[in-house]
Amino acid sequence: MEENKSRFKIAQDGADAFARSSKLGIYIHVPYCVRKCRYCDFVSFPMGDGELAGCAGGNAPYRGAGAGKAWASCPAGSPEDYFARLGQQIDEAGRLYSERFSIGSVFFGGGTPSAVDPSLVCGALARLKDAFDFEEGAEISLEANPGTVSAESLAAYRAAGFNRISLGVQSFDDRVLGIMGRIHSSAEAEEAVILARKSFSNVNVDLMMGVPGQTLRSWEDSLRRAIELGVQHISFYSLQLEEGTPFFEDYRAGRLELPDWEENRAMYRRALEMLKDGGYRHYEVSNAARPGFECAHNLRYWTMEPYLGLGMAAHSFIDGVRFSESVRPDGAAPDVSELKGDFVFTQLRLIDGLNTELYKKLFGCGFEEDFGEALEELIAEGMLRRSGPDGERIAFTAEGLDRTNPVMERLLEEL
Ligand code: SF4
Repeated sequence: MEENKSRFKIAQDGADAFARSSKLGIYIHVPYCVRKCRYCDFVSFPMGDGELAGCAGGNAPYRGAGAGKAWASCPAGSPEDYFARLGQQIDEAGRLYSERFSIGSVFFGGGTPSAVDPSLVCGALARLKDAFDFEEGAEISLEANPGTVSAESLAAYRAAGFNRISLGVQSFDDRVLGIMGRIHSSAEAEEAVILARKSFSNVNVDLMMGVPGQTLRSWEDSLRRAIELGVQHISFYSLQLEEGTPFFEDYRAGRLELPDWEENRAMYRRALEMLKDGGYRHYEVSNAARPGFECAHNLRYWTMEPYLGLGMAAHSFIDGVRFSESVRPDGAAPDVSELKGDFVFTQLRLIDGLNTELYKKLFGCGFEEDFGEALEELIAEGMLRRSGPDGERIAFTAEGLDRTNPVMERLLEEL
């Protein structure tokens, strides 16, 4: 019994280890988009005058501002009201945490932060700077849709202190963009990247593979264009079919054909080759960067450093406790089994591998003690390998990278 109990308790020095950082990441959720993309189930509400695509996150459909200025029926209210509430939350967070933490990174995500008036996001950043001390060189990112930026808005973001722009390009193929329901063309995406590169020395482009109608050739062209445009960081994700989206409904009704697993994997492997040749380091399953441009904010998630999420649908993680919809934890004890699972899911995504020494420090037992049997099997099957000077890291092999989810699930069955 005692043995079982200790398996689900954070080690005493682990509690300290979870509280080890004096730097905090801040995520700000901006839940508005011009129009819903056909595959998206993020919590975001269309504010354009296009056809209503429905709201994500289980909310009732909402017709946007351009279709009658019906903000009253939008769960987030108008952007002005939303940012007013956000400002109060920022002030409260400052009162609670500014003595203990300085800010190591900030990420405005969504939704589409660039869809609202730039004065709102710039004002929110100014309020954060009033509420907290920022680390020298703190990364401050803004997610932007290529259809919603201009030279003026980008200059305003830069002047306000944003130092990284993440552009949701998804594809440079107009046909694919049309199928996805994106609001921009490939030419507009290219123009946005060129403009962003003029104001920012740290630009990310998101690309998506495995999209209906996408060929390996189209995928290679998109990657090539992103690389040629000289961006510092490229994220490349596979399309996920999410229930409740138009894509999901079309797929279920047999109206949508997706590239099969082999084609999807061929796209992934081609991305790794092209990114390597282009001078990018593949540092996370779906992310590559020029050296020194790895996303500091996302690395906090993957290394279980503390972060605070503000705004609708944002999550926080402080002292080993996850919470949402509040700036403070609700008093619940950390769920250690869940934390161990999160550790596997986040750390194993790093190409350098999961750090078993950190695991021991946090949980007070060896990684092998918890996952030994599955770990040895997966190593024997060539899915995982030991790495690091003393074999203290566990990383995916090239073959394992093609099967990340089943491999992780197999490990988690041990918990
Ligand atoms: S722009 Fe991004 S958040 Fe908005 S609907 Fe499209 S995928 Fe979703």
